[in-house]
Amino acid sequence: MSSVLKFYSDRALGEIQARSFKVFNERSLAKIPQVAGLPEAQRFEMKVVASVLPFRVNEYVINDLIDWDNVPDDPIFKLTFPQKDMLAPESYERMAELHRRGADKAEIAALARELREGLNPHPAGQLEMNLPRVNGEVVEGLQHKYRETVLFFPSQGQTCHSYCTFCFRWAQFVGDKALRIASNQRDQVLGYLREHPQVTDLLVTGGDPMVMKTKHLTQYLEPLLEDRRLAHVQTIRIGTKALTFWPYRFVTDSDADELLDLLARLVKAGRHVAIMAHYNHWRELDTPIAREAIRRLRGTGVEIRSQGPLLAHINDDPDVWARLWKTQVQLGIIPYYMFVERDTGARHYFEVPLARAATIYREAMKQVSGLGRTARGPSMSAGPGKVEVQGVAEIQGEKVFVLRFLQARNPDWVQRPFFARYDENATWLNHLKPAFGEEKFFFEDEYEAMRAGNG
Ligand SMILES: *Cc1c(COP(=O)(O)O)cnc(C)c1O
Ligand code: SF4
Repeated sequence: MSSVLKFYSDRALGEIQARSFKVFNERSLAKIPQVAGLPEAQRFEMKVVASVLPFRVNEYVINDLIDWDNVPDDPIFKLTFPQKDMLAPESYERMAELHRRGADKAEIAALARELREGLNPHPAGQLEMNLPRVNGEVVEGLQHKYRETVLFFPSQGQTCHSYCTFCFRWAQFVGDKALRIASNQRDQVLGYLREHPQVTDLLVTGGDPMVMKTKHLTQYLEPLLEDRRLAHVQTIRIGTKALTFWPYRFVTDSDADELLDLLARLVKAGRHVAIMAHYNHWRELDTPIAREAIRRLRGTGVEIRSQGPLLAHINDDPDVWARLWKTQVQLGIIPYYMFVERDTGARHYFEVPLARAATIYREAMKQVSGLGRTARGPSMSAGPGKVEVQGVAEIQGEKVFVLRFLQARNPDWVQRPFFARYDENATWLNHLKPAFGEEKFFFEDEYEAMRAGNG
């Protein structure tokens, strides 16, 4: 054990037992003891919805995070278990009918495919745009949308310890291989980075890269320590929900120490390593194992930043966000983004109008100190970039949304305030119309030209 490892391992793990990672999916849903105790009608609804949207949940979430006395209202239950209203009534009825008459697998799969197609599986031009090339060939498993940051989807990390019911990457979990963005082309990825000195940030994402064995992560990240031609990649971000869904990953898993050691070495070599932790509710931070995982991670010198969407039925309440941010600050996590639920999957179930989102954000901000006010948002990750709703204002008698890009395809668009007509029901950028009688938003022509160039 290296000395740095000893620093964060020295607290006795006496009370924390190593656990194995038992997981249930749509085929084994009925075998979950707590589910078996639910009313028949509710079990049927779950089965119907799980045949369209991805479902996967592990025993830690079931036994330690969900409060089964509070089902179906429990936020962690809604975060992971399918609910009838996640499908449109007509879609639900069609799928329910197949199950009622005991239709065969092929028929269910065919309808599932059709219904998924209607759920905008690839929002924000994910497949057509952002495809990086080396020598004219598309590098699989990379996305390069914003100048300084490359997203990398390692092939071994394209699943998660459990699935969120609102996941915007849900399409890659439902088995349609053609839709998957994945790669094991390490050398191509590193080659692309070497050729692009403007890239300062590598964001490893998924799925969840923390489902990978440490030896795979090491294989991708170690070259950054050794290769001088990769010195411009100063920041390594790792997007994960493992601190919620499987904190044992950082504490008792057989390669947990090896993982922490890898992170510590990256930090020691002068890299900024940021764990981009996905959180939706303070309850995710409430178990001893979740806190121990955070403590150990912080001991390596990495930063933990938090981000997550605002969701109806789960966290559309300023008090929930205030408590989430306060708890994070207490534990040394830096609040980073509040996202607007994306225009995909079961979005009609989870979406919160932008006007209400801005109010929830502000009401939550009011309750926290400056250290909790680092969260930006509510932010829409749309085709042109990340657009933040800064608030609602009245300018010369017109009620407007004040907007700005936090991140944009053209860096010149960033931080320029712009205005949309107030619309109480709008839930996404494409619902918004320019204010003050303008025809278009300032970036629209340029964005259309970019799309045409890529299409
Ligand atoms: C959010 C995001 C990033 C990172 O943006 P930051 O503002 O630097 O956090 C990079 N690429 C894509 C595609 C993103 O959506
Ligand atoms: S952790 Fe992220 S990628 Fe995985 S299911 Fe949840 S939202 Fe989707």
